[in-house]
Amino acid sequence: MSTRKIAIEEHLSLRDPDFMGVTAAQFDGTEVGFPEQAWRSLTRKLLDLDDERIAHMDASGIELSVLSVASPGAQGIPDRRQAVHWAARANDVVAARVAANPSRFAAFAVLPMQDPAAAARELRRAVTELGMCGAMVHSFSQVDTVDNAVYYDGREYWGFWATVEQLGVPIYLHPRKMLDRHSRMIQGHPWLATAAWSFAVDTTTHALRLMGSGLFDRFPGVQVVLGHLGEMVPFTLWRTDHWMSIERNGCPAQRPFAEYFANNFHVTISAVLSTPRLEDVIEVIGTQRVLYATDYPYESMEETASWWDALELDPVDRTAMERGNAIALLGLNS
Ligand code: ZN
Repeated sequence: MSTRKIAIEEHLSLRDPDFMGVTAAQFDGTEVGFPEQAWRSLTRKLLDLDDERIAHMDASGIELSVLSVASPGAQGIPDRRQAVHWAARANDVVAARVAANPSRFAAFAVLPMQDPAAAARELRRAVTELGMCGAMVHSFSQVDTVDNAVYYDGREYWGFWATVEQLGVPIYLHPRKMLDRHSRMIQGHPWLATAAWSFAVDTTTHALRLMGSGLFDRFPGVQVVLGHLGEMVPFTLWRTDHWMSIERNGCPAQRPFAEYFANNFHVTISAVLSTPRLEDVIEVIGTQRVLYATDYPYESMEETASWWDALELDPVDRTAMERGNAIALLGLNS
């Protein structure tokens, strides 16, 4: 077993009742299909940064977990001022927890994307003052009302992306549950409203919106991380670019989407333990842009590691994907 893995999609929640009010009540485990007992177990694991989590890391060869507040985090707080306040408090608490065990934990910041200027300021503070290595945003943010979903490809976010590029840290674009009003195509089919399907549809669409907006032409240094082997992006690129070459429909992007994916994206292996799909993704994006991750506690660290450790990989590529790429992307001390 390789024992120096760096895992970068490892979720937590915070004990403060205010924090749980967002991460547990708004993202109700039973609502997305978890039986009540399973959700209780998940909640316990989300709150734990001590013996249980460390034991799973040791048993899986994970030296360092890069932590992130569970979905939807700050993205699920429609009130802008409350989101800004909540994100700052959450980052302070998470940074303190990381500081208590810095050899085993690092963290992504949460960001109040409801307010682009405040999100840029909080990212700068989290990176330069709290030592965080980028941020994880849970796809769209609800802004002002619970029904209003905002994505980050609009011009109002260009100042934010300029800050991301200047700081040289990645933004991890993580899924969340679609709003009911956006998911009419699956109404009456609740089994599709979860990680089984719609999470990836929303996150993939968000990533394609970023590519199509011209964002990566304006800020070529921006790096976005997608989990779950790149959601559905690696599998749609050829057809998307093919049809974009036939009808642009006003798309302002200057280059084929495949070029943005190759230059501005990284993917993690989280929660997709499929060898053929991994091989496809490596073929599309290369081993230098694939990183190790678990999606704990929604997935098992041990199950992920036993699949990964049994793969036939070139030793240099294995080391890069297990830790080298993360060290380079996140600016970690090796
Ligand atoms: Zn996740």
